Amino acid sequence: MNSLNNLLAHEIKDLYSAEEQIIEALPQMIEKAQNQELKRTLNEHLKITEQQKKRLDKVQKLLEESGASIEEEDTVCLGMQGLIEEGQKIMNEDMEPEVMDAAITAAAQKIEHYEISAYGTACAYARELKLKEVEKLLQQTLDEEYEADGLLTELAVGGLNVEAESGEEEDISVRKIPEGRKKGRTAARKTASRSNASGNGSAKKSAKSTRTSKSSSARKTTSRSKTAKAKKSHAR
Ligand code: FE
Ligand code: ZN
Ligand code: FE
Repeated sequence: MNSLNNLLAHEIKDLYSAEEQIIEALPQMIEKAQNQELKRTLNEHLKITEQQKKRLDKVQKLLEESGASIEEEDTVCLGMQGLIEEGQKIMNEDMEPEVMDAAITAAAQKIEHYEISAYGTACAYARELKLKEVEKLLQQTLDEEYEADGLLTELAVGGLNVEAESGEEEDISVRKIPEGRKKGRTAARKTASRSNASGNGSAKKSAKSTRTSKSSSARKTTSRSKTAKAKKSHAR
């Protein structure tokens, strides 16, 4: 591998394998997800992923035309393999539905972050090599991965808000929240909306459990113990 051109060709093969593995793994995640919005988001991304795989075929053709040597043997993306295995392992555990959704969201975001990193690099190589069309195609996928990640973040944060506000007559906005905690929450939310590559809802789930346990009535005991479980499972 003596040129950036060939290195890019290798990365594209790696990404091709990554996308193939994602196409195989997503149906199980969709099936296990309880939250309808999460199901829909993952389903939508499955369709997009199929397009991304086709886009990589085009990229590979363009690279060949530009003189890159395409490796004969199939590359297996070991990074994606690990991320998917990790996700499957946690999904096979016995969990409350809400906790399962949090775990699935976390696994999906790890996958998106990997892709954002890999496509970002490939895009930069294409730019360096002045392969305009290749760059454009890769950028398109990169944008889609960012968007998927953003949607997952919104879901994680949005679900949190709904639960905090649902069914309680008490106006939580006027309850006294210790200064330190209030600041922490704002910071967490800012990070979530600002960065496409932000961490997922797991951390925020824990933040929520602190909040809801303060405000909960006896009615919420069940959901509180669920959140406690969520917290525990994320701490592992
Ligand atoms: Fe993808
Ligand atoms: Zn890889
Ligand atoms: Fe993706």
